[in-house]
Amino acid sequence: MGMCLTKDDLESVGTPAGFALGEAVEWCDPSVSIDSRDIRSGSIFFALKGERTDGHEYVSLAFKSGARCAVVNREWYSRHAESVHQEGWRYLVVHDTVRALQQLASIYRSKFSIPVIGIGGSNGKTTTKEMTAAVLGTTYKVHMSKGNLNNHLGVPLTLFGLRDTHDLAVVEMGINHPGEMELLTSIARPDFALLTNIGHEHLEFLGDLDGVAEAETVLYHDTIMRGGTVFVNTGDARLLAAAREIQNRVDYGPERDGNLIWPEKIVLDPAGRTTFTLCTASGSVSLMLHFSGRHNVDNAVAAAAVGSCFNVPLNAIAEGLGSLVPADGWKRLEFIEAGGIRIFNDTYNANPDSVTMALKTVCEIPCSGRRVLVFADMLELGEVSDAEHRRMGALVAQLPFDAVYTYGEHAALSCLSAGPKCRGHYTSHAHLLDALKAYLSQDDLLLLKGSRGMRLELIAEGLRATD
Ligand code: ATP
Ligand code: MG
Repeated sequence: MGMCLTKDDLESVGTPAGFALGEAVEWCDPSVSIDSRDIRSGSIFFALKGERTDGHEYVSLAFKSGARCAVVNREWYSRHAESVHQEGWRYLVVHDTVRALQQLASIYRSKFSIPVIGIGGSNGKTTTKEMTAAVLGTTYKVHMSKGNLNNHLGVPLTLFGLRDTHDLAVVEMGINHPGEMELLTSIARPDFALLTNIGHEHLEFLGDLDGVAEAETVLYHDTIMRGGTVFVNTGDARLLAAAREIQNRVDYGPERDGNLIWPEKIVLDPAGRTTFTLCTASGSVSLMLHFSGRHNVDNAVAAAAVGSCFNVPLNAIAEGLGSLVPADGWKRLEFIEAGGIRIFNDTYNANPDSVTMALKTVCEIPCSGRRVLVFADMLELGEVSDAEHRRMGALVAQLPFDAVYTYGEHAALSCLSAGPKCRGHYTSHAHLLDALKAYLSQDDLLLLKGSRGMRLELIAEGLRATD
């Protein structure tokens, strides 16, 4: 039977309707969906109003696809009173379906007494979540957020995946407005909190880096208030400052310096892997990550700190980290080989922090051929966009790249500031691909970097297709 939301739980949020006389009003091991296209038999469908579509329009489709209950708002229910009562169609009628999703997820979460680890921060949350689950998974049965489900909908959906067979849960928590972390912590109530770092994220809403820190570190304070523990990245000055007064903490960071765990001897290899030694006061272990870059070592050390706190032996930590392979389509410095050309596909997203990191990482990777960059627009930078595109171009000019190609609209400014290294600015994937095919040769290293909307992964696919 598993874990159930009872009649009282459901009635605390809304009014059940359509249940047969004598039928138990409860949801056990709920499988929840907010998209009628991925309803599985027996799911509960929450009809949410999106920007473009209203889930209420898909209620009957959801039932036809096998949903056993739909959560709908009162207004819709009363307007459709005539047509909604078909055989087997059950409802929970609520004031606000988003709020109901959050409240029920929170009630459901409270039925589990297992440790919940919340992972927030500006960059590297998904990677750190995957690494933490890989480390803990060597020893425990772990539940984790799927993909990037980290917001006011993703966190509740993640919590509904908890089952009484789980020992631990790792929940990614992403924000872009002040006040959002309060909401997410009130739903997930983490017992352990980890913030990866503080960087330039969503500055249009969070203001500046201090604003980002203020909004993110709510995760620390709320966790501590509930008697929990925080993992502190001592390499991040803002996180260190925010944790100054906190006693219940586990420190990890780039150097020994009072940390529980730190890395040494970091070496980036030519095929997108990174070797390093994971050190603690009582021992160390060498390992190889299937991820490239020093920032991924930071993520791995964070995961190791969590593992260590849950008594995962150092060897098992190394095994868990070493066995994690980025999924196909990972697009975060994903290594691809095409006809002897080594491609780093970093097209998941792009902002000045992640561009800087990708550029530096690729310049640290040994390369016997030429280093080539394709740089596309960084979107959503608002009024600093022009200046940041120029700044990135100027950075490329200083770094050991042999050639740069730019793509999009804003990146034309980067081409100008990159100087003679810039071999051309393009506004068509096809023309860019032709130029690259003519230029690239065996042993060259190619970095593809740009915002997701610029779809630079098509360049990787094009090069692979002619492999
Ligand atoms: P999102 O905000 O989309 O959820 P995220 O925080 O989950 O992102 P990831 O998806 O793990 O982050 O990584 C996205 C990008 O962030 C990577 O491609 C890389 O450029 C950058 N990144 C990853 N880890 C770090 C880190 N520890 N420090 C700085 N940048 C990082
Ligand atoms: Mg993420």
